[in-house]
Amino acid sequence: MKDIDAELRKILGEDLRQNVVLRDYVSMKVGGVADFFYSATDINNLTLAVSAAVKLKIPYFILGGGYNIIPSDLGFPGLVIKNDCSNIVFSPDFSGVIADSGVNLGRLINQATSHDLGGLEFLFGVPSSVGGAVYGNAGALGQSIGDFVKSVTLLIPKDDTVVIVRHSPAWMSFAYRSSILKTDYRKDKHKPVILTVTLQLVQRRKDEILRMTQENMAVKKKNQPLGEISAGSFFKNLGALPENSAGYLIDHSGAKKLRVGGAAFSKKHANFLINRKNATASDVHDLAEKAKELVKEKYDCDLEEEIEYIGRW
Ligand SMILES: Cc1cc2nc3c(=O)[nH]c(=O)nc-3n(C[C@H](O)[C@H](O)[C@H](O)COP(=O)(O)OP(=O)(O)OC[C@H]3O[C@@H](n4cnc5c(N)ncnc54)[C@H](O)[C@@H]3O)c2cc1C
Repeated sequence: MKDIDAELRKILGEDLRQNVVLRDYVSMKVGGVADFFYSATDINNLTLAVSAAVKLKIPYFILGGGYNIIPSDLGFPGLVIKNDCSNIVFSPDFSGVIADSGVNLGRLINQATSHDLGGLEFLFGVPSSVGGAVYGNAGALGQSIGDFVKSVTLLIPKDDTVVIVRHSPAWMSFAYRSSILKTDYRKDKHKPVILTVTLQLVQRRKDEILRMTQENMAVKKKNQPLGEISAGSFFKNLGALPENSAGYLIDHSGAKKLRVGGAAFSKKHANFLINRKNATASDVHDLAEKAKELVKEKYDCDLEEEIEYIGRW
């Protein structure tokens, strides 16, 4: 570990931190320490950090906003790279935008609005970085970000180095709350990293965009427990019908009443597993497993996590 520490520090300098508590960086407020932690504030630094981890053969994890992950109480054995890359360029050639993957989604929507560019109103209020949203094909109200992606620039680890490639949305294989990065590369030690995303937006007047975002936000506030500590919807819905929603299955199987330590399901929306009071990551995991068992017993179907467990499980 000492050698790795020295080698990483040689490449990343004094900004490299050690033993950083992940709980402070995720919306669920659980999780232990990352061995190493580095905040990348531009694409060069992001590339440098990923390249360093690949070269030194240590695992890395790209942390966006931390709104959809559960880091283990035992922490992450490697380098967590906090993606703080924040550049946004509006293109005069097409009604679109090129955004760094670390850009906050709300900030992007607000800036697009001031350019009279809409399309992403349905995502207003979804807490996310652009990279995290594309990775998991974030969506709401029947639409998803993948529908607006024109291209994605990625870092792909290859042997002990990285290459930069640009891919079309077809390559990304967007599906419900998923992309090829979440399905095919999820378990890789060195996963591809989204650097920038080009989005096709639509010309729309500011006042119209604002009206739409406000309407969507009102629906979100009505349906989701936004004041509670969570990682958003915990499980994927099993279909479009209300009785196939994860919330319905958790509620009607009786799982909604379960508790483990400080973890429980929200009274407002059963698919929001919440940190009610000082829950640990294990509490969250154990409660989710119990809920899956009850749903299986009652409905003979398998709930699948939308969130991801990160680190030493
Ligand atoms: C209150 C609340 C409400 C929510 N409502 C919704 C909703 O309505 N709709 C919805 O879809 N989601 C919702 N979510 C979930 C969450 O907002 C999304 O999943 C979001 O897109 C996560 O983005 P993030 O930047 O926080 O990613 P993180 O949680 O930081 O990371 C998630 C995954 O993406 C990967 N990743 C992140 N950036 C990159 C990158 N640059 N390159 C490669 N991989 C990357 C990470 O490594 C990780 O595997 C909600 C969450 C909360 C807490």
